[in-house]
Amino acid sequence: MDFEFSEEHSMFRQAIRDFAENEVAPIVDQAEEDEACPTELFSKMGKLGYLCPGYPTEYGGGGLGEIGTCIMVEELARVCSGITSGLMVQSGLSTLPILAHGSEEQKQKFVVPAIKGDKIFAYGLTEANAGSDAAAIETTAKKDGNYYIVNGSKIYITNGQICDFVTLAVLTDRSQGSRGISTIIVEKGAPGFSTSKMRKLGHHSAATAELVFEDCRVPCDNLIGEEGRGFRYMLEALNSARISHSARSLGLAEAAFEASLKYAKERKQFGQPIGSFQAISFKLARMATEIEAAKWLLYRVAWLYDQGEECRKEAPMTKVFSSEAAIRIAEEAMRIHAGAGYLAESPIQRYFRDAILYHITEGTTEVQELIISRQLGL
Ligand SMILES: Cc1cc2nc3c(=O)[nH]c(=O)nc-3n(C[C@H](O)[C@H](O)[C@H](O)COP(=O)(O)OP(=O)(O)OC[C@H]3O[C@@H](n4cnc5c(N)ncnc54)[C@H](O)[C@@H]3O)c2cc1C
Repeated sequence: MDFEFSEEHSMFRQAIRDFAENEVAPIVDQAEEDEACPTELFSKMGKLGYLCPGYPTEYGGGGLGEIGTCIMVEELARVCSGITSGLMVQSGLSTLPILAHGSEEQKQKFVVPAIKGDKIFAYGLTEANAGSDAAAIETTAKKDGNYYIVNGSKIYITNGQICDFVTLAVLTDRSQGSRGISTIIVEKGAPGFSTSKMRKLGHHSAATAELVFEDCRVPCDNLIGEEGRGFRYMLEALNSARISHSARSLGLAEAAFEASLKYAKERKQFGQPIGSFQAISFKLARMATEIEAAKWLLYRVAWLYDQGEECRKEAPMTKVFSSEAAIRIAEEAMRIHAGAGYLAESPIQRYFRDAILYHITEGTTEVQELIISRQLGL
């Protein structure tokens, strides 16, 4: 057994940590206050080769595998989970179906500019009546000559209002149920495609939108892979995204813990640092333990994924553990900081609001438990 990161991975961690501290941290407060994603980060990271570290070098990616993607997401999420979410969708969820199943022409046309950060991608699966039951989508794509005519809407879409392209799940054959779902790429600006911002409790610096398609014409050349296999492509991308999602939970948990440890040593009440009270020190001990467990669960799963394993049980397991741990840790950080954490200018209240989302995205905790229990033969 080898528990060391490779030299390449360690160097990448240091580089991305420096980037997060120097380029991202100074703009977090403004982005959160404006409720606007700082889109310039896509091209900045693309130019440095940091945007899609897990993708093959032949397309301009970093060639660092899922471990590389997790390092990028963990380090950015220590600074801001909201900003991380759009970058994370770009580096996996939205572009992976094209990388895995698209034609060479599609990879050159869509994935290469996404890796460079010249184009922003979104992933459109969820609808008003199709959340956990994602196969229940109602957005249709009917063929008309060399075009699909798309009608329907998607909600909660990360990067929705800032994207250039959306990887979209549509029904091409309603009679076939989930086998009638296909995945197509829709370009922003296509006639009949509009977006509207959705406001949220947390992740204010992430762009989230409703997408509406009204007789929107999309070239048939934008079909990914084969018709009727789109649901599989979307779920495959989701399964892999659960791993990087866990890295986001870990990064936020680490930030909340580090701030709490520092505060517990500095803040004095009853003439002594609050960290000397067992009620506080035991909280910190538990937080540190959960972070350690989440870290090694995550990087083992990422390693397994890089060995070619599908991780159908392990990916949801790490997602459940790390997201629930991050939610607990963010709440404990709030208790340790008390009034000081509740103030609008404190990052602690942001961690608290942001962490709650982890239970929902990339499939809720209950849905992950459903997937795990099915893998257990139940
Ligand atoms: C900020 C944000 C960003 C998002 N980004 C994207 C994106 O980029 N692209 C995209 O396509 N989607 C995105 N989503 C959607 C997200 O994936 C869904 O919200 C999620 O899958 C849950 O669906 P739902 O909200 O409709 O909840 P529902 O499915 O309505 O679930 C409600 C409750 O019922 C429980 N439940 C449902 N079914 C079962 C079951 N069978 N067994 C046990 N419990 C069950 C759930 O766990 C939950 O507690 C985003 C959501 C948010 C909030």
